[in-house]
Amino acid sequence: MKEKEIIIIGGGPAGSSCAWKLKQANKDVLILDKRPFPRLKLCAGWITPRVWKLLESSPRAYPHSVHLFKRLHYFIRNRKISVPTRQYSIRRVEFDNWLLKRSGAEFEPLRVRQIRSENGYFIIDEQYRCKYLVGAGGTNCPVYRSIFEKQNPRESHKRITTMELEFQYDYRDPNCYLWFFDHDLPGYSWYAPKANGYINIGIGGRFDDLKAKETTIQQHWNYFIEKLLNKGLVNHIPNNVKGYNYYLRHSLKQPQIGNAFLVGDAASLATLDMGEGIGPAIHSGILAAEAIIKGKPYSVKKVPKYSFWDILFWWRYLI
Ligand SMILES: Cc1cc2nc3c(=O)[nH]c(=O)nc-3n(C[C@H](O)[C@H](O)[C@H](O)COP(=O)(O)OP(=O)(O)OC[C@H]3O[C@@H](n4cnc5c(N)ncnc54)[C@H](O)[C@@H]3O)c2cc1C
Repeated sequence: MKEKEIIIIGGGPAGSSCAWKLKQANKDVLILDKRPFPRLKLCAGWITPRVWKLLESSPRAYPHSVHLFKRLHYFIRNRKISVPTRQYSIRRVEFDNWLLKRSGAEFEPLRVRQIRSENGYFIIDEQYRCKYLVGAGGTNCPVYRSIFEKQNPRESHKRITTMELEFQYDYRDPNCYLWFFDHDLPGYSWYAPKANGYINIGIGGRFDDLKAKETTIQQHWNYFIEKLLNKGLVNHIPNNVKGYNYYLRHSLKQPQIGNAFLVGDAASLATLDMGEGIGPAIHSGILAAEAIIKGKPYSVKKVPKYSFWDILFWWRYLI
């Protein structure tokens, strides 16, 4: 059996940021992820200036492509509001791999299935043993299922269902558009250009509200792509669209149970207004690492519940 002081399950932004802070304190850390990196992750890849600040980095220092939005164009029931700001889009396939490499943590591919406790240690799939365990495995995190679910049941009305596509496209319009409640969607749809000729389009809505309206995310997707084609924002749509579910911010009762910690989507931390999850994942990963290093209780209270203030007051995070 392999022994490690700390094992993190999931190498996304939450897990790799936690590992990065722990490695800075010379901790013995292993990340387990079911997929080898670089891996594709369904995501629009919008990040706020707060994210660069949390990472002690900047778009200039980032070795991959970044696209800057100087304005966000909101359409709320067909009323246009353009908000001056500084926001960024990255490609998750690049960004997550950069975060993981930069963490300096050991990495092994493993789809974790079973976790049990024994004499103050966690045993993972009868192959690994650790004193501290961090659950960073996203919505279906095995740490959440085995240790946290009973104390922190998920609130079904916070479940967001999404459909999304990212593809190479010679776009003409480099702006980011967000359509809220369009066609009665209980959520929003987006057109988000990325650097080096990529585009990301998608929709997300509250699952329970869609059900109550007797409609499906697929029906909204069909309407959305028709609209993008009619507006000339795209001239073709590849047919490899994918779906994913995740949860908006919960009132998490216990993000720490003994030496087990829950971070990122596993802890349901995406913001209530925009479903922003990358920043909260990184922030919670860092907070969990600090709690382990200092031996203090872990709390997610400092992780913002809304994105809007970071969009309006972006300049607070310039470094
Ligand atoms: C369509 C869509 C668009 C989005 N757009 C944005 C956006 O523009 N901006 C934003 O901030 N947020 C966005 N989000 C939310 C954001 O993607 C997530 O909140 C963020 O990825 C959470 O990071 P994480 O590290 O917690 O989880 P993840 O990034 O999901 O990483 C979890 C990792 O755990 C691994 N894992 C899972 N199960 C196991 C297992 N059993 N064993 C081992 N490893 C396992 C996975 O392979 C994965 O690598 C979007 C989400 C969706 C679905």
